[in-house]
Amino acid sequence: MKSNIEDLLNSGIKQLVPYEPGKPIEDVEKDLGIKNIIKLASNENPLGPSPKALQAIKTSLRDLNRYPDGNGSRLKECLSKEHKVNADSITLGNGSNDIIEFITRCFLSKEDNAIFSQHAFAVYPLVIQSMGAEGIEVPATNWGHDLQLMKDSINKKTRIIFIANPNNPTGTFLEKPELIKFLEEIPENILVLLDQAYFDYSNYEKEDIQLSLTESFPNLIISRTFSKAYGLAGLRIGYSVSSKKISDYFNRIRQPFNVNSLALKAAEYALKDKEHLLNSLELNKLEKEGLYKFLDSIGYESIESYANFICFDCKQNSKDLFMKLLQKGVIARPMEVYNMPNHLRVTIGLVEENKLFKDKLLSIIKE
Ligand SMILES: *Cc1c(COP(=O)(O)O)cnc(C)c1O
Repeated sequence: MKSNIEDLLNSGIKQLVPYEPGKPIEDVEKDLGIKNIIKLASNENPLGPSPKALQAIKTSLRDLNRYPDGNGSRLKECLSKEHKVNADSITLGNGSNDIIEFITRCFLSKEDNAIFSQHAFAVYPLVIQSMGAEGIEVPATNWGHDLQLMKDSINKKTRIIFIANPNNPTGTFLEKPELIKFLEEIPENILVLLDQAYFDYSNYEKEDIQLSLTESFPNLIISRTFSKAYGLAGLRIGYSVSSKKISDYFNRIRQPFNVNSLALKAAEYALKDKEHLLNSLELNKLEKEGLYKFLDSIGYESIESYANFICFDCKQNSKDLFMKLLQKGVIARPMEVYNMPNHLRVTIGLVEENKLFKDKLLSIIKE
């Protein structure tokens, strides 16, 4: 009898289209045979990791023969002090993507559905689908979450609502009172994941929700990451804060050593290095202003962003502009997969990188 491997798959996985990350620098160098490429595609911190974090992992390299602390106690203690939340309400993840998976694995089964917004983070529909559950995509308003519509989309099968604030890829921001009102209106048996991957940027520009809000809402889970403002994307470390009951379940299903020892160490020192964080936030704010003005001057409309990137309308399919920029050594991110075919997303880089992006874009337009 012929066996067909596809027939053995769980039905959700059969239809899964993998997440497409920003193009790596090495690939572009190899494919196009060009050097000195700048990557403005994945919202990484252009200043790099905190020098203190780098120094700390250098001295712990000799311990790589040992397993990491599976509980991550030291880092949890630091996070607990920093955010004034209980250490046992914290779950550490291999990136905050790990946390997104914990939620779906704990709380979604085939019969359930989960709600997310149009033009929101592409990982939400993927994890929902991989559980064989139904994803409900709610139309966006002004490129951001429409909380009223999301609430109206709840039905008997709804288990989780995903909210990215600020949102990626659009950078839109929901004000604190609006979010709190939403949380007050949502039934307690529906979980809300508030994904604050870009919290540090938004909180620098506007008051955002603190982690201690999880104490008022037992169905609220807030996730954060060291991948963006803290500049540790390559190490893979993020975390969530939730009720102790929920973090207990997360800790049951996670792998015993899901966060590696270098990531634990680097995160601890990055958290202490406020100077590096503030420099990163200030650079981002100043350079973002410059980029808005530039894009406006060439007639491209930007979506107002509370994160470290700008998503803008290039008035034609952005694939062409993306390719031309690539050939000139600048990696941006086309937004077709987010159903925004005319938008391009660019991460705020170093002063020189942003200048190069502007110069290359101008030269393309003048061609
Ligand atoms: C980048 C990003 C994350 C973080 O991913 P990590 O796994 O922590 O690197 C989470 N959510 C959103 C919306 C993001 O853009």
